[in-house]
Amino acid sequence: MRIHNFNAGPAVLPEEVLLEVQQNLLDYKGSGLSVMEMSHRSAEYDKIITEARAALLRLMGLGDDYVALYLQGGASTQFLMVPVNFCPEDKVANYINTGTWATNAWKEAKKIGKKYHVAASSEDKDYTYIPKTWQLSDNPAYLHITTNNTIRGTEWQKDPEVPAGVPLIADMSSNFLSRQLDFKKYDMIYGGAQKNIGPAGATFVVIKKSLMEQQNANLPTMLDYKIQIEKDSMFNTPPSFSIYVIGEVLKWIEKNGGLKAREAYNIEKAKLIYDILDSSDFYRGTVVPEDRSRMNVTFRLPSEDLEKKFISEAKAKSMIGLKGHRSVGGCRASLYNSLPMQSAETLAQFMIDFEKANK
Ligand code: PMP
Repeated sequence: MRIHNFNAGPAVLPEEVLLEVQQNLLDYKGSGLSVMEMSHRSAEYDKIITEARAALLRLMGLGDDYVALYLQGGASTQFLMVPVNFCPEDKVANYINTGTWATNAWKEAKKIGKKYHVAASSEDKDYTYIPKTWQLSDNPAYLHITTNNTIRGTEWQKDPEVPAGVPLIADMSSNFLSRQLDFKKYDMIYGGAQKNIGPAGATFVVIKKSLMEQQNANLPTMLDYKIQIEKDSMFNTPPSFSIYVIGEVLKWIEKNGGLKAREAYNIEKAKLIYDILDSSDFYRGTVVPEDRSRMNVTFRLPSEDLEKKFISEAKAKSMIGLKGHRSVGGCRASLYNSLPMQSAETLAQFMIDFEKANK
């Protein structure tokens, strides 16, 4: 039996995809070997990665003025690559600070000696909201945002408006492809695959080709997007198996109604849990309602002892991953793309029963 997986990442994958992968594990479509054992330079693998790159752009509604890459090093390496590539000496890297991951992003720019500016921050209220206004520096190289704060449970509900000529760059690790977005507003989008679109090991990076015009010169090979683009995402050995599974997840999303259907499904799942937070004085949501994340629902119980009991009783009932991030405590239910409705329904019923028994 599969359990209800509320892990924040690596996270639940569609059962259908896992079965497809299992079926092809020993002999991928008659090739006589597993994708894990294939040369990344073979024709079979070339087809897999080419399709996985194309599906990404298709789902995002982007044309050939964008390029999709699968790199390694996680979103955390992108925190470094973004300023290395796109912040020249005479410009200032701008960031909106919505908590841990956003903070890690601007800190990389700082560490390598780039000029940087925090254009807005929600630190004053413990990152429980998304800033609605910001002040860019003079001469901005770009504005970087984190569209979903996995730890605090906040999510941008609207794309930010930026002045013409200022590239918008987003870490979408934890809400990528979970909702319809006007991706054309972004000059670059990246994130770890391990939450919404696949297993750990691959990092998706989507870049508008025109952004490459402001790229710095003479960069170390592995940090240079130009080389990664020229080599079709295969300068060195890619995380081949992860990319294959991502391709299968993307096919699954397309087959099941694309982002429109994903969004409707994700809204419904999140509503099941938020309705309980709103109708109870036992559970307390930690985020201002208008900025609540559909992906990571964060909440507290009346005491830490009750939180521990809640998490362990949930586990006994086959619901895992409900512990909040170690830096903030409390509870968190991650409801990513592949989480079945039935898991959200099971959690909602458990929350009601737990409240009755422990109030
Ligand atoms: N950004 C966000 C929003 C995240 O949630 C995470 C991981 N939880 C990261 C970046 C870091 O990703 P990685 O582990 O792939 O480096």
